[in-house]
Amino acid sequence: MSQGMNILVTGGAGYIGSHACVALAEQGYVPVTLDNLATGHEWAVQWGPLERGDVRDGDFVAELLVKHRIEAVLHFAALSLVAQSVTEPVRYYDNNVAGTLALMAAMKRCGVRKLVFSSTCAVYGVPPALPIVEDMPTQPINPYGRTKLAAENAILSAASAGDLDAVILRYFNAAGADAELRIGEAHVHESHLIPLAIRAARSDGEMLKIFGTDYATPDGTCLRDYVHVTDLADAHVAALNFILKEKRGHRFNLGSGRPASVREVLLAVEKATGRRVPAEEAPRRPGDPMSLFAANDLASSRLGWRPRHLDIEGIVLSAADWDQKYAASQRASA
Ligand code: UDP
Repeated sequence: MSQGMNILVTGGAGYIGSHACVALAEQGYVPVTLDNLATGHEWAVQWGPLERGDVRDGDFVAELLVKHRIEAVLHFAALSLVAQSVTEPVRYYDNNVAGTLALMAAMKRCGVRKLVFSSTCAVYGVPPALPIVEDMPTQPINPYGRTKLAAENAILSAASAGDLDAVILRYFNAAGADAELRIGEAHVHESHLIPLAIRAARSDGEMLKIFGTDYATPDGTCLRDYVHVTDLADAHVAALNFILKEKRGHRFNLGSGRPASVREVLLAVEKATGRRVPAEEAPRRPGDPMSLFAANDLASSRLGWRPRHLDIEGIVLSAADWDQKYAASQRASA
């Protein structure tokens, strides 16, 4: 059924979007990337054409939908830095909410009904219980999470009105890289624990800050659910296959379901790199919930998705392998 079906991937030059393009191509779909390359990379688009432009440009999106005979859209294009969203909320609402609305309007205009939307566990805020299930209250605690929730709500309202059929995927902490190291995480502004810890281990004197060591967790540091990016990519293909048959709106958590603490991540980085992670204890980072991890039973039962990378050491090793390759390529081109 997927043979040759053209799928628009907004943000396909980004970290998760580019891995989704690999998974789509492996299943016989043709990913057509739409990316403004603000944070994505041209080198990450290897499995289909790249259309350079902005998702907020509804006329351009409509043109692409027609030109490429698009049958469904995977929508990743967004800004995703929590701290930046606090200082630049208008930019975040514009990219993440107005961008989604422009895309939905273009889809409606062109009769494209099927959408898979990239959302986040940040929509939950501080959860009332763990693990997090999809029908828990959504009370995001930062503008990034609020923009994603606003986009989710617009999509679900449009789905209820019969305008489109959509799957919303709420990711936990994406990590790791393509098994063949063709693509991986390469953010200019890196704020995530795993790449920063790997960088600190391999640097001379860069110190990793451990944000908070007094949480009520077994080792005092925050718990997160790290999920491998190729597992996320597979979930997008599963969601696409699902929504091609189903109607209306659906939400799923995508997490490994296994919490790991900051200190456990650092140990895994030390094992993967064979080097010590120079680290210092620092105050809690404002806005960090103590523990976040997913119940992924719904994605498992409805999408047939099961993450294959379950242990933090394997996930970190994949990230460290990519980092080594990417850092070498950066040095070579410097
Ligand atoms: N963290 C840390 N030092 C860093 C970056 C992150 O201790 O330099 C912690 C952070 O407080 C959180 C966890 O690592 O508990 C994961 O943070 P990250 O920014 O990777 O993802 P988030 O869960 O915030 O989306």
